Amino acid sequence: MHQELPNRCHSFRQTNRPPREEGAKEHMPPGMSASPVGGSSAGLSIHKSEGIVPINEKCESTIKGLYAAGDALGSHMSGGIYTQIGSSLAGSAVQGAIAGESAAIYSKSVDLVKISYEKMQEVEKEILAPLKRKQGYSPAWVTQTLQSVMIPNFVLYIKKESTLQGALSYVEELLAHHVPMLKADSLHELRLAHETENMIINAKMKLKASLMRKESRCSHYRLDYPNLDDKNWRAWINIYQDENKNMVLEKQPFDTWAKA
Ligand SMILES: Cc1cc2nc3c(=O)[nH]c(=O)nc-3n(C[C@H](O)[C@H](O)[C@H](O)COP(=O)(O)OP(=O)(O)OC[C@H]3O[C@@H](n4cnc5c(N)ncnc54)[C@H](O)[C@@H]3O)c2cc1C
Repeated sequence: MHQELPNRCHSFRQTNRPPREEGAKEHMPPGMSASPVGGSSAGLSIHKSEGIVPINEKCESTIKGLYAAGDALGSHMSGGIYTQIGSSLAGSAVQGAIAGESAAIYSKSVDLVKISYEKMQEVEKEILAPLKRKQGYSPAWVTQTLQSVMIPNFVLYIKKESTLQGALSYVEELLAHHVPMLKADSLHELRLAHETENMIINAKMKLKASLMRKESRCSHYRLDYPNLDDKNWRAWINIYQDENKNMVLEKQPFDTWAKA
């Protein structure tokens, strides 16, 4: 598909690309030479627009005592679309230096937190659970099922309410009935089992955020809401778990910090 979508936020590659000569080969890195699709990005997100939520310029997060940088920090360094290809590594390195120094200064002001033996046992049991299961689903099989739900272009790129809702139903099913039955035959598969669970939670977060944002902006394109909605949507979406373990989404206006 190669068409100009009515999204007013175009990527660098779309707007500044020199005209191609008839029959000429494109000189782009592998994986980057395909036709652009409205500036959208695979994975439903771009570097730095997902991750732990910062509360200040010191890389401190909403989780007290936790500092993060790079791809792990939702610093929004690149905005809502990747306009400076290659800026991500440099930004991660700079943030890493800032976060490291800030965390070191903070750690001097607090006592070492003691974790009880019971808590450690509980966490260990949770981590090893897939290894102990005699029957269940392999992480590879569940991951393939997740990919078949998330990769179609009508979920990943050209989104609308019905297709996002359909994908969300499948993802919630994976979370409810497949994650508790993930089975690992080796330590390698154990790592994959936890990765698979994390990918499913991540997919749910992105689908719910895509459903909530009823407009099109930068790399997010909704067929049913093709225009920018500056009145309601000059905002990022933050996601957290409430005390009943529900996934809750809330807006964070642009140019503001999240609350501590
Ligand atoms: C395919 C691809 C192409 C890219 N191309 C470019 C490009 O051309 N230019 C550019 O600037 N950026 C590019 N990026 C983005 C760039 O690579 C990332 O933004 C950057 O590497 C993020 O750095 P980071 O230090 O935050 O995370 P990472 O580089 O992911 O480092 C995190 C490290 O933590 C380790 N780790 C994870 N969990 C644990 C744990 N529990 N204990 C110990 N260690 C752990 C991981 O193994 C990893 O080594 C690309 C990314 C991808 C995926």
